[in-house]
Amino acid sequence: MINISGLSELCEKLGCDIRQECSLKDHTTFRFGGNCRALINVNSAESAAELIKYLRTEKIKYAVIGRGSNIIASDDGYDGVILHFGSSFSEIVIDGTTVKCDAGALLASVCMQACKNGLGGMENLYGIPGTVGGALYMNAGAYGSEMKDVVISAEYIDENGDIRAVSADEMELSYRHSIFSGRDLVIVSVTMKLSQGEPSEIKAAMDECMNKRSSKQPLEYPSAGSTFKRPEGSYASLLIEQCGLKGFTVGGAQVSEKHSGFVINKGGATCSDVLQLCEEVKRVVLEKSGYILELEPIILK
Ligand SMILES: Cc1cc2nc3c(=O)[nH]c(=O)nc-3n(C[C@H](O)[C@H](O)[C@H](O)COP(=O)(O)OP(=O)(O)OC[C@H]3O[C@@H](n4cnc5c(N)ncnc54)[C@H](O)[C@@H]3O)c2cc1C
Repeated sequence: MINISGLSELCEKLGCDIRQECSLKDHTTFRFGGNCRALINVNSAESAAELIKYLRTEKIKYAVIGRGSNIIASDDGYDGVILHFGSSFSEIVIDGTTVKCDAGALLASVCMQACKNGLGGMENLYGIPGTVGGALYMNAGAYGSEMKDVVISAEYIDENGDIRAVSADEMELSYRHSIFSGRDLVIVSVTMKLSQGEPSEIKAAMDECMNKRSSKQPLEYPSAGSTFKRPEGSYASLLIEQCGLKGFTVGGAQVSEKHSGFVINKGGATCSDVLQLCEEVKRVVLEKSGYILELEPIILK
């Protein structure tokens, strides 16, 4: 049992909004999942550090989410506290060509702000629907660019609840991986170095990128983006298509007809539908092609 009154008191002291029995459906782009015991809208790095220290001392299970765009939330919900890094923690500060963002800032807002200030380098990342914290966590990337190309440093909360700084070359950034992946480290700010450019040209490149996305990806349906990582030597979408799995459906979950790298929620999908479908896709692809597919989104349970 979680001592909600103690946690609520701490949230009040820190000025963080806390809500009990929140549906993960409302906090993930796949739009399914049960309730978490409480969801806290974190408002600063210091609040995050205090909350984490409290949760660890009280042995309360917790997880961090940003936009929830790379998460598969369990139908049973999450028996713990969600620290939500969103609009309450999303300041973007631009100084010359350096952009420092709170972890909850949306990548889209950062790209827009950068563009307004004549700063380029993130055009291809425009359209990834996550926060900068979530993007750094997995070194998000698209169309030949990735976070690795622009990040110079970050601040995070370590295992002891202390705020630490780390430079990009210490982050082990590689394909959908960073030192933060799968570890109990919480990113609180991300600093990027961009390059000077002409705002109209930057905007045109961002728009082109967004147009490519909407013409190729099933953005009209809830999803968590690419469902499988790119296996060495091939593409998940190609393998899935070659195995005749385009349109394959389990309950409300479907391999998109528009882009077979995306599993979509056609309506009323559950976590169980999605995981069952993914297991079958993995099984068939392995059997027919010899490639092992690995899930890209994180299963929150
Ligand atoms: C339509 C669509 C298109 C997409 N296109 C792309 C694409 O082109 N390229 C790409 O790389 N991804 C893509 N994605 C996936 C997703 O948007 C990215 O992975 C994004 O970076 C996730 O950010 P988030 O804030 O939503 O993270 P969440 O989904 O909230 O969290 C994902 C993981 O990151 C962890 N995390 C989040 N914030 C922090 C933090 N501050 N500190 C520590 N850990 C944290 C969470 O605990 C979780 O394990 C797409 C998703 C969708 C729905």
